[in-house]
Amino acid sequence: MVTRRFGGRRVVVTGAARGIGARIAERFAAEGADVVVLDLLRDPGAAHAAAIGARFVEADLTDVASARAAMTEAIETLGGIDVLVNNAGILRFGSVMETTPEQWDEVLAVNSRSMLLTTQVAAQAMIEAGDGGAIVNLASMAGKAGGAGQVAYAASKSAVIALTRVTALELGEHRIRANALCPGYVLTEMGAATRTQEQVDLWSSYSPLGRLGTPDDVAGLALFLASDDGAYLTGQAVNVTGGMIMH
Ligand code: NAD
Repeated sequence: MVTRRFGGRRVVVTGAARGIGARIAERFAAEGADVVVLDLLRDPGAAHAAAIGARFVEADLTDVASARAAMTEAIETLGGIDVLVNNAGILRFGSVMETTPEQWDEVLAVNSRSMLLTTQVAAQAMIEAGDGGAIVNLASMAGKAGGAGQVAYAASKSAVIALTRVTALELGEHRIRANALCPGYVLTEMGAATRTQEQVDLWSSYSPLGRLGTPDDVAGLALFLASDDGAYLTGQAVNVTGGMIMH
């Protein structure tokens, strides 16, 4: 049975043209929310938005002006905002010894700085409306456990966890909650180019459940954290790893 926990709620999901974000946006729409799909990828983003009855706003979140303008447009389109899901992200490989300043800056700009920018615009609108709100940020288990060979990615996700906690501390007085999700391995296009069946089998064995995660596994937790069922949760970084890490 599908419940409609988000009837009348206005939701923006970044990076929702495909993968985890696409599924999160779809499930919000299915539960009654008015949704904006915000993404760099115009054609798949617009097509997905149309398919789920949402609106599409194009943005390159690495560009400060574009990120602010797109969030402002999304909020105007919806007539306000109740939920922001900061999901857009990129994975880049590189060890501590190999990673260049340019690679570091690129990953941090997409995965962390973009979330600061969208949070600022969304939170301002939430504060002015006075009805509170929920922010859900996509971190990663790499943000807690690290990740050999992906130092910039792991650092960017630790930054997401810190941003989430500070957002929760500073904006709680406005009844704005902020929580992070820390997925394990999820089979999406992220990392697909280099992924082998041997790795999939090995990673699956790390989970007591014996499988990798799905976009639905992550979406279910994202919706819970954004819903009234999560009303007393803020500043948390919740694992959705199939038990791969437990801290
Ligand atoms: P994905 O590559 O399938 O989707 C990422 C989306 O973000 C794409 O639609 C892309 O166009 C968008 N995006 C990237 N750069 C952007 C930019 N500059 N401006 C606007 N949009 C941009 O990846 P996914 O697996 O669905 O990952 C979604 C989130 O979940 C990411 O933050 C990722 O780090 C996180 N995550 C994924 C996994 C996994 O195993 N797939 C694990 C842990 C965390």
